[in-house]
Amino acid sequence: MSLINEALVSSTETFSMLKDQLKELKNEPTPFYLYDLNLFEQTLEKAQSAASKYNFQVHYAMKANSNKPILRLVKKYGFGADCVSGNEVKRALKRGFSPEHIVFAGVGKSDAEINFALKHDIFCFNCESSHELAVINELAEQQDKMARVALRINPNVDANTHKHITTGLNENKFGINIWELEDVLQLIQSLPNIELIGLHFHIGSQITDLTVFNNLCARVNEIQDWFNDRGLELPHLNVGGGLGVDYYHPDQNLIPDFESYFAIFNENLKVRPGQQVHFELGRSLVAQCGSLITKVLYIKKGRTKNFAILDAGMTELMRPMLYQAYHKIENLSSVLPEVKYDVVGPICESTDCFAKDVMLPETNRHDLMALRTAGAYGEVMSSEYNLRDKANAVYVS
Ligand SMILES: *Cc1c(COP(=O)(O)O)cnc(C)c1O
Repeated sequence: MSLINEALVSSTETFSMLKDQLKELKNEPTPFYLYDLNLFEQTLEKAQSAASKYNFQVHYAMKANSNKPILRLVKKYGFGADCVSGNEVKRALKRGFSPEHIVFAGVGKSDAEINFALKHDIFCFNCESSHELAVINELAEQQDKMARVALRINPNVDANTHKHITTGLNENKFGINIWELEDVLQLIQSLPNIELIGLHFHIGSQITDLTVFNNLCARVNEIQDWFNDRGLELPHLNVGGGLGVDYYHPDQNLIPDFESYFAIFNENLKVRPGQQVHFELGRSLVAQCGSLITKVLYIKKGRTKNFAILDAGMTELMRPMLYQAYHKIENLSSVLPEVKYDVVGPICESTDCFAKDVMLPETNRHDLMALRTAGAYGEVMSSEYNLRDKANAVYVS
């Protein structure tokens, strides 16, 4: 079996950083996730300094990646935690996030999850329906607590991203629709254990067309006016996450343009005096810091196609199969002329395919491959299907 460091070719200039990092890892069994904590710190630093210019508060969306070293750095740089399950709230508390920096969203919070969050006095529930408001009120009453809530409103703004990661259109299950607001407001006024502290929006993920955020701001302004007209001043606005990353050219765009992103909100959002603006970033903070490292097991030559069969599949990285996501694939072992491949995994599913018809240097058994930009929504979605072992996480800094 070839060792990791022996599987690298040293002659090419490209992806040298990844190769340098891999050289240290002789016996690591593939597949594994490789995280560049240096890059992660730089990314967090850039995001935090861009946000703090405007006194914006950023919560890290834990569902993107909740590994211990990742959360440790998130906390070190002063981010809060955005959770979408009771276990994420639990994990955030365990990793030392203080309850007043934890927000809890999700369209289907269970009673046990709500009770847990109430017990620990988290900062805010992002509420997605009137039914949920009534249930939180009831559970809060039983604990003799006030539940702080922000209404997650579906602003019907098109995120201009893949339909499977769009969340802010009328057809999506998320949030309270505009036409329900009158009723929701009346309901809230009858719920003694609910304190309405803000409005929440999250319109989708992997948003690369930044004008989408201009549209979001315009909608938020209208909706906020609507509340003000009814005599409600809200201390918090939470505009969610969704900033995209460059899956096609990771090395040219390792760190997203946080400056432009936050500047859009600063320019377009009508923030009331004393009002606090919150963001929930996941992908943009952690995606570029991770790669899935895998080896080629077999090459299968068909009549019309060549298959490169990897030792990683949908059990390690599901995004390509779940929503046709693109991840750049790099052969770190070959400098031969390029050939066209379907790059597939070993799992017994036809959809277990990372990419069709990609050009790669001619590939052989035991070549080392990197699936780039896999730090967000990669390892967290892994499964044991086919009784697969869980891939290790390896950290370099
Ligand atoms: C997933 C999610 C986020 C983070 O989205 P990214 O695209 O990773 O920035 C933020 N808020 C909520 C409510 C989410 O569900």
